[in-house]
Amino acid sequence: MLQDCAPAGVAGVRPHRAPIAILSYHQTATPPARGTPYRSLVLPPAQFERQLRALRLLGWRGLSLRDLEPYLAGRLTGRVFGITLDDGYRNNFDHALPVLRELGFTATAFAVSSQLGGSNVWDHANGVPPAPLMDVAHLRTWSAAGMEVGGHTRHHVNLCACTDAKARDEITGCRQELEDVLGAEVRSFSYPHGLHAAQHVEMVREAGFTRAVTVVSARAGWNDEPLRLPRLSVHATEPLAMLVARVTTPLEDWRIARRLRRAAAAMPATSMPAAAPAATAAPAASALAEQRLTEGLAPQAAAISGVAQSMS
Ligand SMILES: [Zn+2]
Repeated sequence: MLQDCAPAGVAGVRPHRAPIAILSYHQTATPPARGTPYRSLVLPPAQFERQLRALRLLGWRGLSLRDLEPYLAGRLTGRVFGITLDDGYRNNFDHALPVLRELGFTATAFAVSSQLGGSNVWDHANGVPPAPLMDVAHLRTWSAAGMEVGGHTRHHVNLCACTDAKARDEITGCRQELEDVLGAEVRSFSYPHGLHAAQHVEMVREAGFTRAVTVVSARAGWNDEPLRLPRLSVHATEPLAMLVARVTTPLEDWRIARRLRRAAAAMPATSMPAAAPAATAAPAASALAEQRLTEGLAPQAAAISGVAQSMS
């Protein structure tokens, strides 16, 4: 008998829906010199625009986490994906905002509350060139344009390297400082570098955030925790067709299934007795995912290829 599954602790069956891609961007600007750390996280503005235009041509709509919430909760369905921009770079105000507005898309910018109008000081020691961040006026304009401002801690800290008291201050203080300057509720949070432990999820919840994102590379499934949503990181090196396929097809789901299968195959024999059911289930699940990928990709491949070629 087929039966829907509900995650442990959840009464009843939650709405079943297709996975939703949440894209993670950083900067939209002319990339720095080759060899610069994290260079691939700086997307030329024209590349950012091509990606969103291609997805729109295929009938998809990009939304902030706030606007995506009814879809994530299964109350609405449609061809939607999330757009998030970490750190609150000024170049996103200059380059991404006009594109988002023109296309009728929305996006979430995650701001570091102690650096409004400042710079990415946390990255300077890593060799990343200084890049200005949005100030209060930029964030207010961003917000007034229908975009969302989310929190990214006060100082862009690694929460796992903080004491609990410090981590709590970074999370709670960030929300408070952003709400004070914006005069509006801040409900979305991004863990810096995606790093967090279980206690940080609780701190984020206690601070009043209702959705939070990590850097786990997957589409958000119906049973993902709202305070631990996975995202697809976008790199400048990624071909347009690949990005479109990751958003609109089960490609990323298949990649995860493949990783699971390889992990299961690499599992030491000594651990097999207890893990045997899972280890044998993973390849079966992977084969099914692979089959679904092939079926899912076939009708869309020509459309994706055509749009990508016309926009390259
Ligand atoms: Zn960040």
